[in-house]
Amino acid sequence: MEKKATVLNCPIDLYNADEAIKEVREALKEKRNFHVVTINPEMIMNAQKNKPFFEIINNSDMNIIDSVGVKLALKIKGINQNQIRGVDFARLLVKEAAKNNLKIAFLGAKEEVIKKTCENFLKKYPSLNIVYSRNGYFNNDDEIIEEIKQKTPDIVLVGLGSPRQEEFIVKLKKELQGATMVGVGGSFDVFSGLVKESPKIYQKMGLEWLYRTILQPERFKRIFPVLPLFLIKCIIDTIVNRG
Ligand code: UDP
Repeated sequence: MEKKATVLNCPIDLYNADEAIKEVREALKEKRNFHVVTINPEMIMNAQKNKPFFEIINNSDMNIIDSVGVKLALKIKGINQNQIRGVDFARLLVKEAAKNNLKIAFLGAKEEVIKKTCENFLKKYPSLNIVYSRNGYFNNDDEIIEEIKQKTPDIVLVGLGSPRQEEFIVKLKKELQGATMVGVGGSFDVFSGLVKESPKIYQKMGLEWLYRTILQPERFKRIFPVLPLFLIKCIIDTIVNRG
């Protein structure tokens, strides 16, 4: 089976977590820079109206399905592929770094969040080589990129929210060598333990967004109008392209 598809023209890699990690391992081995996008409906909708953002998604190295919305969009096209939650993928990369003594960098979230994230991971993996960590509230991108570059990381997790994190990674990618860079959204909030992860039952049913919306009702305004519109667009797109 072809391991690629598109949703509203955005390329999607049809990988499960093991396959996605394998791609990262290969890129690391070959010392290729590797930009991973954990893609969701908001990003795809943004790419419809924001050409530079579309180009970022179109030119990234791997776009994995982070959301049930994208899974549904693929289903409309007759493709069955499970999502890989961004937090889970980020966790796997931290494990991979710990196992293989890779240099890892964390950028994003509030100061207390990123501090607690490092503490928690170091408790779990005492030998984890965190070469850089910094909160995500800054506007001197060039300086931050230079700081990260000095540390020559193998893996960089960037949690600044979208599209800021993807735009930042594009700039970072020009400066690093052989690094895997992943936009991880609000994952650090979860790793820090300061934001509760949704219960497994919600994760299994793909209703994580609902759980997070209940906890943070302000997300409702952001997500709610996007999802139905996204699915309607996907249905129309599938019908038009079939006919
Ligand atoms: N964030 C940041 N710098 C900013 C704005 C946001 O580091 O200037 C962080 C914020 O603290 C949070 C993450 O980016 O940890 C975005 O989380 P959100 O839940 O909005 O992202 P999603 O997972 O929905 O993409």
